[in-house]
Amino acid sequence: MKNGIVNTYPSLKENIKVDVAIMGAGISAALTAWHLRNAGLTVAVFDKNHAGLGSTAASTAFLQYEIDIPLTKLKEYVGEADAVKSYKLCREAIYDIADLCKSLKPAFDFHLKPSLQYASFKTHLSDLKAEYELRKKHNFKVQWLDEDEIQKQFGFNAPGAILSKDGGEVDAYLLTHALFNAFEHAGHKVYNNTPIKQIEHTKHGVTLHTASNLKINAKKLVIASGYESLQYVSKKIADINSTYAMVSEPIEDTTFWYQNSLVWETATPYMYFRVVSENRILIGGRDDPFHHPHIAPSTIDKKAEMLRKAFSKKMPQIPLAPDFKWAGAFASTKDGLPYIGSIPERPNTYFALGFGGNGITFSVIAANIIHDLITGKKNDNAAIFRFNR
Ligand SMILES: Cc1cc2nc3c(=O)[nH]c(=O)nc-3n(C[C@H](O)[C@H](O)[C@H](O)COP(=O)(O)OP(=O)(O)OC[C@H]3O[C@@H](n4cnc5c(N)ncnc54)[C@H](O)[C@@H]3O)c2cc1C
Repeated sequence: MKNGIVNTYPSLKENIKVDVAIMGAGISAALTAWHLRNAGLTVAVFDKNHAGLGSTAASTAFLQYEIDIPLTKLKEYVGEADAVKSYKLCREAIYDIADLCKSLKPAFDFHLKPSLQYASFKTHLSDLKAEYELRKKHNFKVQWLDEDEIQKQFGFNAPGAILSKDGGEVDAYLLTHALFNAFEHAGHKVYNNTPIKQIEHTKHGVTLHTASNLKINAKKLVIASGYESLQYVSKKIADINSTYAMVSEPIEDTTFWYQNSLVWETATPYMYFRVVSENRILIGGRDDPFHHPHIAPSTIDKKAEMLRKAFSKKMPQIPLAPDFKWAGAFASTKDGLPYIGSIPERPNTYFALGFGGNGITFSVIAANIIHDLITGKKNDNAAIFRFNR
């Protein structure tokens, strides 16, 4: 709402042939398109609605390397080496976005920001401490804060917390349009209002059938349609949840706690809060384990009030007047990792399914891997995110 419609793209008006078709025009598609723009291939992006207005517009735009599943638990699912590698890839993704933002003309706004995860209850303390030790062992820049230190630096009560140095923030909606702008300048096309109704796998690649009976012939297809992509995979790989967020009116103070870090907790589902532009405080969480595309405004009101109350209980010293509130869908996987790559039932097709609370860092990883798979380069990280894990 704050940024409005920054750019629009036409709908598809005739049958076309491209090397690579990308279905969906959110941040995952934009990053993939941007990576492919100079690969000597013709690439086109198709969205059923407007570019960037899916989950990307709902995102609270924080970049974290800590995925929704702690490292101590992830290692039980995928082994310590792959768990650490996943965390490190997410950390690299933050700095990749920083570099990418710097390289865009004009340079795109990006900030590094720390994040604090606090123990919601005393009983969570030993697990959080184990998480801290494991991350320290693998050279993540983390610091342990005890109760007094949290009170001093953050102004609220919690029994213990991990302060992580590596985090960032970027407006995913505006970045999506900036990337599409560079992509179009390289001679490629983005189409709005072009729903793909059917995917036909042919001898030469794929034929996509649009809602207005046009055909897109492509050698390769990238499915980057957010949580709606799940319908194209026969195996159940994720659950869809609803998540809620509210943002306050601007507040006069400029520094509310240590470096205005992102703050989140160990409880599941977790609540998080951060400072966003114009000195507004954004609070998110209170997830529901189901999703309906049309969540009733009364539900959003109720959830926003729960978020406000929970924040005010922690930080009564910060006056908070709610301004905007919204809901969004996000999918979560059993191990918190995304699904990236191909499946036998869909030849010549690559999925960029960056699910979970830090989907944007997963979108960066997906764009790198898919670029390599399409251009025939070996990618050593692809196996971690394979479908048959
Ligand atoms: C409230 C909320 C807060 C979040 N906060 C964060 C955060 O702080 N940090 C973070 O990293 N992540 C966050 N996320 C997650 C992040 O927003 C998503 O992971 C990311 O935006 C997914 O981008 P995407 O491009 O994969 O999907 P989307 O942005 O959903 O894009 C998919 C596009 O595909 C299109 N599409 C679907 N079906 C078709 C079809 N048949 N034909 C053509 N087009 C189709 C849709 O219209 C849509 O535009 C948050 C999510 C929510 C909901």
